Amino acid sequence: MSKIALVTGGTGGIGTAVCQRLADNGFTIISTYFEPEEQAKAWAAKQNFKASIYPCNVSDYASCQELKAKVLADHGQVDVIVNNAGITRDARFLKMTPDMWRAVISTNLDSLFNVCHQFFEGMTERGFGRIINISSVNGQKGQSGQVNYSSAKAGVHGFTMALAQEGVSKGVTVNTVSPGYIGTEMVMAIREDIRNKIIEQIPVKRLGKPEEIAATVAFLASDDAAFITGANISANGGQFMH
Ligand code: NDP
Repeated sequence: MSKIALVTGGTGGIGTAVCQRLADNGFTIISTYFEPEEQAKAWAAKQNFKASIYPCNVSDYASCQELKAKVLADHGQVDVIVNNAGITRDARFLKMTPDMWRAVISTNLDSLFNVCHQFFEGMTERGFGRIINISSVNGQKGQSGQVNYSSAKAGVHGFTMALAQEGVSKGVTVNTVSPGYIGTEMVMAIREDIRNKIIEQIPVKRLGKPEEIAATVAFLASDDAAFITGANISANGGQFMH
């Protein structure tokens, strides 16, 4: 039986590449969506792999409880979680509103608690689980205009390290992947002159590809990665080394 992977925000830029790569590696794919149902159905229809899609607001605990009920009814279990859903609401600190702060913290960080809380027990009972949390280089180094995002993404790795310690004796690994700037809509939405300045600061002189993040995630989801837990894997073209 193929293992079952749940990818939050699987319909987005990096999420789609992650779903594709995990499907190529033989996983059954479940993706959450946040957009209107028609849009998510259209996404699923144009992929060359089969994905079961479920609505979920990852920042809302009750919505994640509903997700659990539906996913377990249809699929029985979840073996791999990729906490990928995320947003930015950038502004200089003094211009950042409480709503911008809260939206980013709840979507990027509360979401890990909300989603993992639904499936972690099942993983520990079965003695196998892979949790992969998508952070960001800006959670490692900080970024002006992103006090909210940098805080949430730094928190992601704290979550990873703590939950990794709880899962370690039960066959559940928990790891962080910290991408640098990847050529998705999120980054292409940055003003071109600013984006070009960003690329100048990346030693490989290009944006990363979603497929490169997907490959890293797929490795961490594999049986071969059983000895890696609590790690923060950087995939940033040399932009930040630690
Ligand atoms: P996208 O905007 O393409 O994808 C984000 C996904 O998250 C979308 O499917 C979006 O759904 C979903 N989402 C947003 N809010 C919620 C919510 N409340 N509940 C459920 N789903 C939600 O972004 P990327 O693919 O670029 O980013 C994916 C992850 O990678 C994010 O965590 C991001 O922070 C991280 N990252 C991205 C980098 C980049 O350069 N692109 C760099 C470093 C990290 P919808 O579209 O319907 O809103």
